[in-house]
Amino acid sequence: MADWDRKRSRLADHLRSRVSTEPVLAAIASVPRHKFVPDDKRHDAYADRPLPIGAGQTISAPHMVAIMAELLDLSPGDRVLEIGTGCGYHAAVTAELVGPENVYSVEYHASLAAEARETLDATGYGDVSVRTGDGKKGWPEHAPYDRTYLTCAAPDFPAPLVDQTRSGGILLAPIGDGQQRLIRAEKRADGTLDRADHGGVRFVPLQ
Ligand code: SAH
Repeated sequence: MADWDRKRSRLADHLRSRVSTEPVLAAIASVPRHKFVPDDKRHDAYADRPLPIGAGQTISAPHMVAIMAELLDLSPGDRVLEIGTGCGYHAAVTAELVGPENVYSVEYHASLAAEARETLDATGYGDVSVRTGDGKKGWPEHAPYDRTYLTCAAPDFPAPLVDQTRSGGILLAPIGDGQQRLIRAEKRADGTLDRADHGGVRFVPLQ
């Protein structure tokens, strides 16, 4: 087993203390995080911590990606909207769970979107869809989504994202200016949200 593979399976084992969904742990054990992070950060790719990815942005710690995947309750075939592609790592983990052709990701910074596109192509996740744009507006052409999540903090769930999620679907985001909480919301048939608070978190803010 290559060194990277060994480090990655050790990371997945370490996450067992916080995450119990086997497919999520298998996804973490599969996605080569070292290929998504900048070259000079590769040695830290399998430490459970956030890393800078350029343009003043940060890739979340693996445990946060795993916890979010678990809270989203992802199944193969679910159509998922991600806001904040960053380096594409989180999108790849989601792709492992739902199938790459079902993942739609919007990134604000064109440079990050272009790099993520390249990395996703090079790592076997070429069917993930990425576009540059303002994630607050979502990606209406592919709606409705079964699941929608943000990897940057918003003051509240942007209305277009709620509109683009099907009723009975789930939204997940760090919510708050300053102090942030990870909020999971189920969209009711009448369009309102049934929210649950999953604790304090720290993400970069939505632009
Ligand atoms: N999921 C990413 C982590 C990205 S950090 C990964 O695995 O690497 C949050 C990302 O949200 C950053 O890349 C940032 O540029 C992006 N972002 C911030 N505001 C945004 C907006 N309004 N629309 C889309 N993306 C946004």
